[in-house]
Amino acid sequence: MITGIKENLQKIKSTLPESVTLVAVSKTKPITDLQEAYDAGQRVFGENKTQEMVAKYDELPKDIKWHMIGHLQRNKVKYMAHFVDLIHGVDSFKTLKEINKQAKKHNRVINCLLQARIAKEDTKFGLPFTDIEDILASDEFKELENVKIVGLMGMATFTDNQKQLQDEFSSLASFFNKNQEKYSDLSILSMGMSGDYKLAIKNGSTMVRIGSSIFGVRNYIA
Ligand SMILES: *Cc1c(COP(=O)(O)O)cnc(C)c1O
Repeated sequence: MITGIKENLQKIKSTLPESVTLVAVSKTKPITDLQEAYDAGQRVFGENKTQEMVAKYDELPKDIKWHMIGHLQRNKVKYMAHFVDLIHGVDSFKTLKEINKQAKKHNRVINCLLQARIAKEDTKFGLPFTDIEDILASDEFKELENVKIVGLMGMATFTDNQKQLQDEFSSLASFFNKNQEKYSDLSILSMGMSGDYKLAIKNGSTMVRIGSSIFGVRNYIA
């Protein structure tokens, strides 16, 4: 069977600057597809469902870095706390507290990104910039010893309108840069997917989350 996963990966990688990390978004895809990407050298994978990520973690080589990129339910954090490498979609202080609690049980510090609301379209996920500033500055956050906020994540509006995408990415990038001057832990700006990652990189993204351009279209919405 010719899947082309290796070829797709090579093609994308050849266009990425060295400083940009590629997260291969493997949600809904079978283990064999992930193994193929692994064999081609890919080590960072992104999933959006806890159960699916745990099942794949159990099956695959242990040097894979697993990123949770989906909306996180607090009661699911405990299932990934022993292995997750980076949680992209943190959008409340309560969730941060739960991650801290579960990380502590495993004697770990879990790296997190706060998800910023950048899409103009009505979306329930992501924090307004002012809430992000409040969390970063708060004493309650400083007391959490088992989580580290290492950057920000954003999802642009699902649109072909380049001007709008440009505006959304650049607003997040300038907010990120501003905060990076204050908080030295911030090093990751996760923005860009299959359809818009080139524009995201032009605007300063350091981490792109690419699914369908590597693994092909997904059979169902996830
Ligand atoms: C599914 C998903 C992606 C990847 O989307 P593609 O368009 O297939 O590249 C990136 N980020 C998040 C948060 C996702 O849920």
